[in-house]
Amino acid sequence: MTKHIFVTGGVVSSLGKGLTSASIGMLLEHRGLRVRMQKLDPYINVDPGTMSPYQHGEVYVLDDGSETDLDLGHYERFTNSPLTRQSNYTTGQIYQSVINKERRGEFLGQTVQVIPHITNEIKSVVAKIGGEGIDVVITEIGGTVGDIESQPFLEAIRQFSLDVGKENCLYIHLTLVPYLKAAAELKTKPTQHSVGLLRQIGIQPDILICRTERSLSRDERAKIALFCNVPVEAVIEEKDKDFSIYEVPLSLVEHGIDDLIVRKLGLKAGALELEDWRELLHRLRNPRHEISIAVVGKYSEHRDAYKSIYESLDHAGISNQAQVRIQRVHSEAVEREGPERLLTGVDGILVPGGFGERGIEGKVETIRFARQRGIPFLGICLGMQCAVAEFARNVLGLQGANSTEFDKNNPYPVICLLDEQKTITDKGGTMRLGAQPAVLAPGSRAIQCYGTQGISERHRHRYEFNNVYREQFAARGMLFAGTSPDGALVEIVELPDHPWFVAVQFHPEFKSQPTRPHPLFDGFIAAAVTHRNGPSGRPPKSDGAGQADGGPQRAEKPAT
Ligand code: GLN
Repeated sequence: MTKHIFVTGGVVSSLGKGLTSASIGMLLEHRGLRVRMQKLDPYINVDPGTMSPYQHGEVYVLDDGSETDLDLGHYERFTNSPLTRQSNYTTGQIYQSVINKERRGEFLGQTVQVIPHITNEIKSVVAKIGGEGIDVVITEIGGTVGDIESQPFLEAIRQFSLDVGKENCLYIHLTLVPYLKAAAELKTKPTQHSVGLLRQIGIQPDILICRTERSLSRDERAKIALFCNVPVEAVIEEKDKDFSIYEVPLSLVEHGIDDLIVRKLGLKAGALELEDWRELLHRLRNPRHEISIAVVGKYSEHRDAYKSIYESLDHAGISNQAQVRIQRVHSEAVEREGPERLLTGVDGILVPGGFGERGIEGKVETIRFARQRGIPFLGICLGMQCAVAEFARNVLGLQGANSTEFDKNNPYPVICLLDEQKTITDKGGTMRLGAQPAVLAPGSRAIQCYGTQGISERHRHRYEFNNVYREQFAARGMLFAGTSPDGALVEIVELPDHPWFVAVQFHPEFKSQPTRPHPLFDGFIAAAVTHRNGPSGRPPKSDGAGQADGGPQRAEKPAT
């Protein structure tokens, strides 16, 4: 029988429910249990694929091509729970499914209502992810208790325990216990109110996880326990972690969360084995190098927009024993101020994916700077497309070369729409999405990094390298280091005479874990460490303008 854990949040949003759920999943897996993770999002969009990164952070893509909430990134980084379309549902999807059933006449003339039809649909997606061989399903409910749009989800998870038995369900509520400077006190009232709201709906939380900037005293925990009707040992503190999110599971263990869950659900679990995680934190705390990586994108002010990229850089930092200082640089600032001012001194430059024209010229300028100065460069998706445009303009002399995404009538459309995209008009879920195989060229940096010829990586794009230009690019030194198995689509480009210049059409950041960094990020950070220390570990050098000649030089003269 699969047991179910439901994680809700109260008081404020952005408490880190995703991270906490992922940490719990990771701890249960480390006790030998088979876990599945799931997120239910109360918004009406069918998936986050069409939502702006400003509103909702990055769109996280799974192998099966579903475009999901960024919390699923935490799930994949912390656990080995395989994620699929069934791991993320929105109100939009739930309603879409119920409405389709109604149109097919499946409700046999009944009035279709939130209770029971919408709640039944929600319960069925929760039940479906459990089953044979799965010990625990952790279902995180997006939003905050008290939101109008969360109500059907909360009602459904309340009913769920009636259906499967109270002993098979556990409700964890994450709240905030703020510290009021003026009173010099931690305040428990918001938590009391939030739990009060939950109890009105009929959910009595079993465990409270209290986010706080200061440790809770025994008295404060006892007060919360009394007012919220839980045993005091079920009031768990989760103090802010300034150092790393990878500390969260260990701090939850200190407060006994895994034992509590195992006991309350009657799980047959092994002893907690956390050696790999402790080793990871040890490496994180004891770096031998320090490097700075510039991430040049157009959402740089929004931390969540490139979440998986920042995490992947950290993972590769851990494996290379390097502390990675990330500089978030806005590509429009590069347009205004020039790359020299903003990027001089960095040890690596990453240009991430994106959509739309804003900031493109700044990305192209950034890439020119990385190429000419010999600074390790990793381009991702749009970052690869900009690298292709840059090479076309500044090495091949194809003035103004661009992607047709930004300039439909460009004389040199070096990036153009994929054939399969030409007739598509709907925006949602219609890109080239999810895992696609690729083969790597012998002798390439990519094959060195991966250590294998066949790879599979996740995609999310409509445009591709225009094959009309392949020979021209190859003649001037660009290596097509990875293609689709039939050779038709360019997946990776490299510059072999540059210290490390790799750009990929896919999104490696979706497959990196702290204990298993992605091979390309690993290679990129290793190159950045070499850039900082010199090949023999010499003292730091500068990337000042005078060093330009030291970089990989190619004729800048236009080919024509
Ligand atoms: N906008 C580009 C395309 O659709 C790149 C997409 C991306 O970077 N994810 O092809």
